[in-house]
Order: sequence, then C-alpha cells, then structure tokens
Amino acid sequence: MKKRVLLTGGAGYIGSHTAVELLDKGYNVIIYDNLSNSSKIAIERVEKITGKNIKFYKADILDTEFLKKVLIDEKIDVVIHFAALKAVGESVKNPLKYYHNNLTGTLSLLKAMEDVGCKNIIFSSSATVYGDPEVTPITEDVPKGFCTNPYGWSKSFMEQIMTDLHTANPDFKVVLLRYFNPIGAHKSGLIGEDPQGIPSNLLPYISQVAVGELEYVHIFGDDYKTHDGTGVRDYIHVVDLARGHVKAVENLEKLNGVEIINLATGKGYSVLDVIKSFEEVIGKKIPYKIEKRRAGDIDKSFADASKAKKVLGWQAQYDIKDMCEDAWRWQKMNPRGYEREEKI
Ligand code: NAD
Ligand code: UDP
Repeated sequence: MKKRVLLTGGAGYIGSHTAVELLDKGYNVIIYDNLSNSSKIAIERVEKITGKNIKFYKADILDTEFLKKVLIDEKIDVVIHFAALKAVGESVKNPLKYYHNNLTGTLSLLKAMEDVGCKNIIFSSSATVYGDPEVTPITEDVPKGFCTNPYGWSKSFMEQIMTDLHTANPDFKVVLLRYFNPIGAHKSGLIGEDPQGIPSNLLPYISQVAVGELEYVHIFGDDYKTHDGTGVRDYIHVVDLARGHVKAVENLEKLNGVEIINLATGKGYSVLDVIKSFEEVIGKKIPYKIEKRRAGDIDKSFADASKAKKVLGWQAQYDIKDMCEDAWRWQKMNPRGYEREEKI
C-alpha cells in the first residue's frame, strides 16, 4: 500500500510541484491549505497534469481539532509541512503575524499529530537557518547562524521545536529539508511561482521584466566578495526539489532520528550569471541597474549537496538553463499568475 501523504500548504509553489511528483509515483495526496498565498486553480492544474484527483481541505493549520479529524479520516502516514508565510520583508514589518502563523501553526500541527499518533514529518526548512556561513560549500554540519529577519528565525525555531519533540518522543521521525533557492516551473507551464504584488525574489522579478510587466531589474549590490561582485546563490529547479521530497517519503523507514538534508545543486550563480542565462533563453537583453545592497543579504550561499545523494539517493538533474526556460514558459503562459490565464 502506497503511503497517504498530507501536504500542508500543498496549493503553494513548492507544494503543488511536490503533489505532481508524488501522484506520478502513485502516492495518495491530500492537500490542506487556507489559500492565504495560493489559488485553488493550482490544485486543478495539478489534477490536469497528472490525470488524478486530489482531496483538498481549505483549512488553517491553526485549527488543531480539524487537523486531527483530517489526519484520522484520511489515515495519514506522513505529513509534508509546507504551510508558512514566507515574505522576508513583510516578516520584518509584521513579526507577530509571522511568528503566529508559522510557529503557532506548527505547534498546532505537531500537537494534532502527537494526539492521533501520526509520527512522520518532513519539514520545509531553508538555507536561511545557516545565517551568514563562515564556509562554503555549506554542509549540514555547519552550525546554524544568526538570522536577519523573523521569517528566518521562524524556520530556525521550527527546526528546534521538531528536534525537541523527537528527543521527548523518539518515535517521531523528523526530516528537515533545507532548501537553497528554488526557481523554475513544471515543464507543462501549468504550475509555477505566483507571487502577490511586486516579487521580492530574483527570478520572478527577472521574468516580469522579460515579459514587460516591470521596467528593469534592480541588482542589489555589486561589491560582494564574489567573482563579479553580485550575490551568489545555489538555485535549484523546483521539480528537482519536489523529487527530493518524494525520495524523503520513500526513504523514511531507513532514516533515524532527526535527519537534516540540504536540497541544492551544489553550484553557485551570481545575479549577473542568472540574468545572462535568462537572456540566452529569451534571446533578448534584460535591462538592469546596479543599486545598493539589500539589508540582510549575504555574499554567497551554496551547498554541499552530497548528503542528499548518500542518504536519499537524490541529486538535482536540471541546470540553470532549464530553470530559466521553464520559468519563462510559465511566465509567458500565465503573465499574471493563476488569476488571469490569457496567453501572450
Ligand atoms: P507558498 O506561499 O507558495 O506556499 C505556502 C502555502 O502555505 C500557501 O499555499 C499558503 O496558502 C499556505 N499557508 C500559509 N499559512 C497557512 C496556514 N496557516 N494554514 C494553511 N495553509 C497555510 O510558498 P512556497 O514557496 O511553496 O514555500 C513552501 C515552504 O517552503 C514554506 O514553508 C517556505 O517557507 C519554504 N521555503 C521556501 C523557499 C522559497 O524560496 N520558495 C525557500 C526555502 C524554504
Ligand atoms: N536580488 C537582486 N534583485 C532582486 C532580487 C534579488 O539583485 O530584485 C539578489 C539578492 O541580493 C540575492 C539574490 O538576488 O543576491 C537572490 O535573492 P532572492 O531574494 O531571490 O533569494 P534569497 O537568497 O535572498 O533568499
């Protein structure tokens, strides 16, 4: 019997791509999302891509009692916990909203799981928990660092809460997946990243400049200690990332205790490298201006991704060109995200 997997936040960017990959492997997928940062259309598109139906609960992870009911009714074996608010700038302006949603929400989920005896959790963590690391590439042994915003702290605290829960109750299996920079979209162009308002992440910003929605890319600093002075990150195709979750589900029985795993390619690209790759894909120049550094940004962040290969048998397949091509296809087919579907 294939496992029954609950995706909190499964209507979102990474959750929807993970749903496709799990369904393709025959898993039963149940999505639990309050749609605070997503659209039901994403779930319909996942059904279209896979030809399979998804059970969807429009509900909040803060509702512990309802979560318990869903865990029991749906006989959930594993929870993949994506649900969180993730806008770094907004978290600085409204920390209590972020701590309430992300931390109280996670406590509510863990309480529901503990009460009903569902003890497998795979968690969406982030490279942000490393802070400004002293060494690159970053292995999982690099100590967690100082986060520069409440969003980052909420991820760091959630990791700690799950680790403490495992210490108290060793039956709890916890996989902390630390994502580097997910970009790109499903090859169909039907699902992708749909930021509300002006994007704060690099790739959606570049895509919107390319499609003419925004005028030029603001490059936040060219005086970093990197090969061309612009910030370096480890970009990973969202479909590769999604497949990392499938591998975590497949390998749960083998894993012990709290397993921390970087999901990344192991390669670093600068802002200018990414713009150049995007230009090659679309065959035209992307206008940009160099501006001052953005508060809280670091020079470079890229992973040692060897543990994922060793422990999960997973490694990224797609390169930066694939990531840009797929982001571009999604952007062209959905210039205003899920709400407006006209093609250009
Ligand atoms: P997303 O905003 O697209 O998806 C998150 C989903 O959670 C949304 O559908 C939202 O409606 C839902 N949600 C939020 N609060 C909820 C609540 N209280 N109850 C129910 N549903 C709720 O974000 P994403 O990019 O898909 O990220 C998924 C996870 O991965 C998040 O936890 C995020 O912090 C983490 N992460 C993302 C990135 C990234 O760059 N995208 C990097 C590292 C980690
Ligand atoms: N960046 C930029 N302009 C933008 C958005 C991002 O120059 O409009 C840079 C940012 O300084 C960093 C990299 O692009 O070096 C990736 O930023 P993003 O916000 O996508 O991810 P982060 O690594 O900060 O989570």
